[in-house]
Amino acid sequence: MKLNLHSTDLSLSLKARVALEKHVFRFTHSLGQNFILDENVISDIVYKAGVQKGDNILEIGPGSGMMTAMMADKGAKVLAIELDRALEPVLNDVIGERDVKIVFQDALKADLNALTRGTFGENAPYSIVANLPYYITADFLMRAITLNPAPGSITLMVQKEAAERVMSQPGSKNWSALSASVRYFAEPEVVMEAPALLFTPPPHVDSCLLKLHMRKDRPLDEADEKRLMALIQAAFRMRRKTLANNLSASYSLSREETIHVLEKAGLGEKVRGEILTVDQLIDVMKAMQEKSE
Ligand code: SAM
Repeated sequence: MKLNLHSTDLSLSLKARVALEKHVFRFTHSLGQNFILDENVISDIVYKAGVQKGDNILEIGPGSGMMTAMMADKGAKVLAIELDRALEPVLNDVIGERDVKIVFQDALKADLNALTRGTFGENAPYSIVANLPYYITADFLMRAITLNPAPGSITLMVQKEAAERVMSQPGSKNWSALSASVRYFAEPEVVMEAPALLFTPPPHVDSCLLKLHMRKDRPLDEADEKRLMALIQAAFRMRRKTLANNLSASYSLSREETIHVLEKAGLGEKVRGEILTVDQLIDVMKAMQEKSE
């Protein structure tokens, strides 16, 4: 008997495995292709992401399309961005007629604002869900938190180390430009631990499902947010240097000007950028802005 891949009787996991086999798909390590082909795990991710009927979901790297199909089956409209064209026939088999739009582009280069607006409608709410290719984690996170309109939540499977970095607190060794930037835009939470063996093929490290609950009450306007992101990059540029040194170097300020800015922000001249809280970084950004006005 011939297997009908479009039959709804086949489990999604079996459909995905059969489609990968049929189209002779070869996993590419450099594209971060560690798939999750276990229906229970995918179901848990979709549940933790809070996907519901009527939701708009932007998915990065659909891979076999299992999670994509499951989110569509919940009644969500899914826009999936995949880099690897070799997955096209697999995705067609697994997703079938579901309400899914697949775009073959690099998620770091694609115009995500235009794509979400074009797919979901102008200013329509949406969320991001992805089992992310790990090599794009930091760059994608920075893109995702600054999207406009902002997603309601961002749920990402990431390497455990990346999750620890995002969850870290000011002054700890993991507190970085990424952690500070994320903390301004969102409240991060680890909602699931995912050992390497849950993936096909298994990566060398364990993972975590990270959920960013996006803040609706951000205190700065768009222009100041851009200034804050630039200041955060500058403050963390050279660890173990003082903030004064990093600011002088990045903004071509004299030592006196820098110390004046720090004084205005209530900080001493020896303070290091990497111990500052987000509120203190905002104070420095505002003091710099007043100086240039
Ligand atoms: N979502 C699938 C799953 O959970 O089984 C696959 C996840 S796999 C970790 C990452 C996926 O992202 C792969 O399908 C890979 O081809 C895709 N990918 C890699 N780099 C990408 C990029 N720059 N933009 C979009 N997709 C990318």
